[in-house]
Amino acid sequence: MYKESRETEKKNLVQGSTGDWEVVIGLEVHAQVTSNAKLFSGSSTQFGGEPNDHVSLVDAAMPGMLPVINEACVHQAIRTGLGLRAKINNRSVFDRKNYFYPDLPQGYQISQFKHPIVGEGDVVLDLKDGTSVTIGIERLHLEQDAGKSNHDLHPKHSVVDLNRSGVALMEIVSYPDMRSAEEAKAYVTKLRTILRYLGTCDGNMDEGSMRADVNVSVRRPGDPWGTRTETKNVNSIRFIGQAIEYEINRQIDVLEDGGTIDQETLLFDPKKGETRPMRSKEEAHDYRYFPDPDLLPLEFDDELVEKLRGELPELPDEKKDRFMSDYGLSPYDAEILIAARPSADYFEKVAKGRDAKLAVNWVMGDLSGHANAKGVPLHEVGVSPDQLGQLIELITDGTISGKIAKDVLEIVLEEGGNPADIVEAKGLKQMSDTGELETIVDDIITNNPKQVEQLKTKPKTIGWFVGQVMQKTKGKANPQAVNKLLQDKLEIGEG
Ligand code: ADP
Ligand code: MG
Repeated sequence: MYKESRETEKKNLVQGSTGDWEVVIGLEVHAQVTSNAKLFSGSSTQFGGEPNDHVSLVDAAMPGMLPVINEACVHQAIRTGLGLRAKINNRSVFDRKNYFYPDLPQGYQISQFKHPIVGEGDVVLDLKDGTSVTIGIERLHLEQDAGKSNHDLHPKHSVVDLNRSGVALMEIVSYPDMRSAEEAKAYVTKLRTILRYLGTCDGNMDEGSMRADVNVSVRRPGDPWGTRTETKNVNSIRFIGQAIEYEINRQIDVLEDGGTIDQETLLFDPKKGETRPMRSKEEAHDYRYFPDPDLLPLEFDDELVEKLRGELPELPDEKKDRFMSDYGLSPYDAEILIAARPSADYFEKVAKGRDAKLAVNWVMGDLSGHANAKGVPLHEVGVSPDQLGQLIELITDGTISGKIAKDVLEIVLEEGGNPADIVEAKGLKQMSDTGELETIVDDIITNNPKQVEQLKTKPKTIGWFVGQVMQKTKGKANPQAVNKLLQDKLEIGEG
């Protein structure tokens, strides 16, 4: 049971027909460790491949085989713990979690129970409304993944694929600190970003690299914790949100009808958008955990932890702060850019040593527009940071206007090439040469006496003249130079 200290302020209350309800959510996220080999064997962890291609005698649980811990997986767990600002336990213990399942040939899963490798930490969420909340992490432990049973490949038989059997997972358990589906989705999104920055899990939920057990309960504000249900193995952020919304409504309906919530294990059906029972508490397993006699306790010294700490990359929160102070980004823009490391790197390459405001505008504006239209991330849109940077330099030094720059960007996207060369070859340079512009301005004034007359009473119509000059010069005239010329010639004050 969780202590009073886990109480957060009452908010995001849900209105039922008999009063308000508070929603309580805690997540257990399974994240596949990025490593070449499995947790206790040398088999490949590659996704795909023919069934049972990546299976050693250890993974198939042949009698007499002994597990040997993969050091790389241990390092990944420590790095993840550091990224979650968590306590690293120098001594942890692998236990056997016993249960029978056809895709679990050992008859038990090697996991960590009483003594996990990582203890308490936290994840900070910056929410859309500008507020932030801190979600507590209870623990992170290492465990083996199971194989996969398939029941519809053969008309009469079920088949088992052990490729995933023995792959290292990190189970990251949150405290019940979330109070809405929005917060839960933001939590998983942020956790995935952190893991991807660290390179400890690829976060590809559609390949099963990350999946969540979703615990939901409701209670009257101020009441003790309600009974929770646990929806197993939800494999997309959208589904996590849907499963939570469904459970909130279902539980409130049951309670308001005078019923009680059973502590059940549920499955989410994405087609129906509903949860349904998988097994009830009465059938709950007694796993008979006990320390695995084949494995010594896992021990390492602080030196290793400090070495790994020293090698950590800049993490999302740090990068966000730095982007805001170095480049004057708004929290909103910074949040979008840091969400994925490649887009953050892209932006930084464009902005470094250049006009940061222009860089933000172009990356968040035109470039993001093109990226969205193509359905690809920023860095894959087909414009390199160098190309965009050069374009920005051409604007900064007055060679081209922002308007022409948009055209140049289109050309870069379609045909490739250097912005400077394109501007040169297509004659797109901004005309700032007063002599040349003067001839054009004089022409327009002579040919449009009516408009000149009108301008005397309506100074705003100077815009029409600017437009004419732009048309004549195909947008290449420097707008400031044109304005100045017109004001001088027509003897009017600043428009
Ligand atoms: P178990 O070990 O049986 O899975 P835990 O107490 O470790 O149970 O909790 C598992 C998850 O359930 C944690 O993420 C925790 O935050 C969440 N949780 C616990 N109690 C509640 C509750 N009343 N409502 C919602 N989530 C809860
Ligand atoms: Mg659990």
